[in-house]
Amino acid sequence: MTDYYKLSLELLRTILLENQYDFWANWMTEDIENWEKNQNTEHHLRAYGGMGSFNDVVIGNQDSEGLWQGRIFGILQSLAYGLASGDALEDILSRINSTSTQISGWRCQDCGAARINAIDIERFVCANILPQLFINHLKDNKLAKVLDTNKLLSSKEVSNKKATIEQLFRRASIEIASDNNWLWTCPKCGSSKVCSYRWEIINNETTIIESDDNLEINKP
Ligand SMILES: [Zn+2]
Repeated sequence: MTDYYKLSLELLRTILLENQYDFWANWMTEDIENWEKNQNTEHHLRAYGGMGSFNDVVIGNQDSEGLWQGRIFGILQSLAYGLASGDALEDILSRINSTSTQISGWRCQDCGAARINAIDIERFVCANILPQLFINHLKDNKLAKVLDTNKLLSSKEVSNKKATIEQLFRRASIEIASDNNWLWTCPKCGSSKVCSYRWEIINNETTIIESDDNLEINKP
């Protein structure tokens, strides 16, 4: 049987080394040694919690690939932490396998113009595809392949999902901005009353509705 705890530590270490987090990579090495020697997970559990702890490690840049890398790292952390705490694998996987219907963008409070940044669509797609993809990889005994983010990003599943979401936004007349910049003024009316705005994608990704926790919009 696969030793998922050891595997998760090894994969975490690989990512940490690639991102020049030598201190934490060495920490994982020690965890692996403790595990192999006497099945001890105490040292690994000590990495979490508090300022500057293992939870605060940030992986990936503010681009598509970085976003996926960051999430994969986070899921691996959950797996390692859960197993180190003695949780059953199935329980950890069902915790990991949570998705969100919410997606964030911008809205002008004065004219109602709506916009979403490309990276927010990416974030939604990643959050909704990655958990199940991770679990499938684990069950197929090829978990190490999740580290190949380029391959994941160019897969049909990801590009199809992205196209579906983009189409939903276009049909709802919500502009998709290719840049990922903060929106300071409304591109339509010039108002500075631009706010963050949320939508829900529901009905098996066929419908987009406004979340009910948004600020009031003056609709023309
Ligand atoms: Zn406006």
